[in-house]
Amino acid sequence: MVVLGGGFAGLYAAAYLGRSDLPERGVDLLLVSARNYFTFTPLLAEVAAGALGREHVTVAYRTLARHYRFRFLQAEVEGFEPGERLIATSRGPILYDHAILALGAEPQYFGNDALRAASLPFTTVEHALKIRDCLVQRAERAATVPDPKARAGLLSFVVAGGGPAGVEVASEIRHLLRDVLPRYYEGLDVATVTLIDSGDRLLAGFDQRLAERGLGLLRARGTQVQLNTRVLDAGDGWIEVEGSSGRETMAGVLIWTAGTRPAGVLGGLDVPRVKGGYIAVDQTLRVEQTPGLYAIGDISGVPDPRTGRPYPRVAPIAISQGIRAAANVENELNGRAPEPYAAFHAGKIVSLGDGQALVDILGLPITGRAAWSIYRAAYLLKLVGTKNKIRVASTLALNRLFGRDLTCEC
Ligand SMILES: Cc1cc2nc3c(=O)[nH]c(=O)nc-3n(C[C@H](O)[C@H](O)[C@H](O)COP(=O)(O)OP(=O)(O)OC[C@H]3O[C@@H](n4cnc5c(N)ncnc54)[C@H](O)[C@@H]3O)c2cc1C
Repeated sequence: MVVLGGGFAGLYAAAYLGRSDLPERGVDLLLVSARNYFTFTPLLAEVAAGALGREHVTVAYRTLARHYRFRFLQAEVEGFEPGERLIATSRGPILYDHAILALGAEPQYFGNDALRAASLPFTTVEHALKIRDCLVQRAERAATVPDPKARAGLLSFVVAGGGPAGVEVASEIRHLLRDVLPRYYEGLDVATVTLIDSGDRLLAGFDQRLAERGLGLLRARGTQVQLNTRVLDAGDGWIEVEGSSGRETMAGVLIWTAGTRPAGVLGGLDVPRVKGGYIAVDQTLRVEQTPGLYAIGDISGVPDPRTGRPYPRVAPIAISQGIRAAANVENELNGRAPEPYAAFHAGKIVSLGDGQALVDILGLPITGRAAWSIYRAAYLLKLVGTKNKIRVASTLALNRLFGRDLTCEC
């Protein structure tokens, strides 16, 4: 039994199977992932802004493997032969009876290599740390530049993509540049953060009124938001965009959260697909026409039977699909029929940084400090690893007293 990919979907699938009676019955349970640690993505924006570090949002699989009774192999998945039930990896081939594919998504640049080369992606802890380094490095340089125009160019940040990751990172960067760093650096009053989205609203999966409230809060706090605007091209220090008033070239650093596609290695997997190349699965999360293979989380296109549209690519959906796929493998091994996946997605949360958040619980919109308290409590509860929960709570408290980490690899 092999789980490929140790994100939210894969980890929760492996943990479910490890806690079942399958290991006692001799089932060999293996989790394969490219890195040797799990990353808690919802707090990456706070890593990008120096409030938290790598150690707060990552957990080594080996420390979870003993508790959840799975074996772990750090390896890159390189190819598939589903007919042979074989997976090619950088550490050799693996044969399986049942496999759960949970390799997640990766940034999508719509074929524009210049955009890829010129922008900072924001999906991993390494990306978040690179953004933090870039911010601090630019603040250091700006502190020695007397010309306000040159300083403004150095301190201009453009975030492409108005989904939760874009909104959160733009909010945290603005807070860092405009509220936190000016305590230690001079001349940051010219810093700007611009959030760009090609749609006519932010946070497409959220309640419209809540998203509008979020837009108002972002603007009131100084984030410039440009809707109906597309990034066309970018290079070293410049970004070309097209909006309702035509084309414009902006100076600045581009942070890219504007699109994702299924993990690249899946291109070589010959299975049915839905729009965007995501893997087509039936209601029980099994890959269509491919016995023994399940696909879950961000790589799959599971349609929500209520709306007909795919479920949103968010952590609670990935977790619940991981648990359902694992339970269905268990059913199959026990001679029972797999059951259909039904999402229970109680809420959506997005942080606007510095004490503000947007929360949608069962259709009830909540903003302001109450939403922020829910955001903090929810993510502290959901963080993987007790040590990390304690670390995050204590570091956030210590930051209030002593400031955040402003060192940079530069
Ligand atoms: C910056 C950011 C912030 C986010 N914030 C939120 C939030 O606040 N709330 C929320 O609900 N959702 C949030 N999300 C979305 C959420 O993280 C995803 O929906 C969720 O992680 C999907 O889980 P997954 O297991 O399908 O994929 P992933 O978590 O992406 O995991 C995929 C795993 O597969 C591994 N992998 C990929 N390719 C290979 C390969 N070839 N070989 C071996 N291993 C491989 C990866 O290393 C990774 O461990 C955020 C995402 C990002 C990027």
